[in-house]
Amino acid sequence: MNSPVPELSAALPNIDEHHTDRRCYPHGVAFMDGQYLPMSEAKLSVLDWGLLHSDATYDTVHVWKGKFFRLDLHLDRFWAGIKSLRMNLPYGRNELAAILNNCVALSGHRSAYVEMICTRGSSPTFSRDPREAENRFIAFAVPFGSVANEKQLERGLHVAVSETVRIPPSSVDPTIKNYHWLDLVKGLFEAYDAGGETALILDTNGHIAEGPGFNVFLVKRRSLRTPAFGVLPGITRRTVFDLCAEIGLSVVAADVTRAELKEADEVFITSTAGGIMPVTRIDDATISQGQVGSITRRLMDLYWQKHDDPAWSTAVVYP
Ligand code: PLP
Repeated sequence: MNSPVPELSAALPNIDEHHTDRRCYPHGVAFMDGQYLPMSEAKLSVLDWGLLHSDATYDTVHVWKGKFFRLDLHLDRFWAGIKSLRMNLPYGRNELAAILNNCVALSGHRSAYVEMICTRGSSPTFSRDPREAENRFIAFAVPFGSVANEKQLERGLHVAVSETVRIPPSSVDPTIKNYHWLDLVKGLFEAYDAGGETALILDTNGHIAEGPGFNVFLVKRRSLRTPAFGVLPGITRRTVFDLCAEIGLSVVAADVTRAELKEADEVFITSTAGGIMPVTRIDDATISQGQVGSITRRLMDLYWQKHDDPAWSTAVVYP
């Protein structure tokens, strides 16, 4: 039996009045334990397995100019993760879509970063048996955020490849979006130490895997390639495949070495947090003469144009 979703009218009369600490909480609205809350009041028990054991899955979709982008694909991935981790949600797909809509609508954001999370939760008896835990669903909408800032989007990101190896897929399935980020965070610190602005880390075979919150592509002689193994199948990555099919560019998922990345004609990263973002330096190598490449530029333009296409977007229903 699915739980009912509270109506928009049952929500807080003035979300802003409850906005206690602007330094820690961006303006936004969360849904937790069956009710809508200002971000500053969305709090989790320290006994939740999501916190204690990173026992959670999540997904992030963005809203751009009042429309969700590829919401169905994000819901599919979230649902697949929940099933694989043997979790249960008290909501069906339509109810989940309604909750996400309501978080955005109540926040008033026209462009938002919208996260849905399912944690293992905790057991009423503090049992150590995950089968006895009551899973917890949380969603929230906050302002849209990007991996790359405006300056980096214009001149391209400077990326350092770190020696850190991504957790093996045989241990944690990377196709389930997860919070096992200690490898990615370690990689970030190494990248900062090496003068980079963000990091790419390696797969267990020593090839390039992905970065903190993004996939990577290289362009060589007008053909594109992105790592196949040990990565999250990003929705933005999938979107690049779809765009390439539309405009007749060849793209494959296959191993990428550090040397190939440094010798590429163009490199870009992809994430819901920012879309398609150019890279103009890998370690000490300048890519594409330090400028955003023409194929990257074309894909970036198409990607944002698609946000108006009803086949790829869902309008938020504001009150
Ligand atoms: N890889 C990792 C580890 C991520 O966490 C993310 C997104 O957060 C991505 C790749 C990009 O996925 P998407 O394009 O679906 O945002």
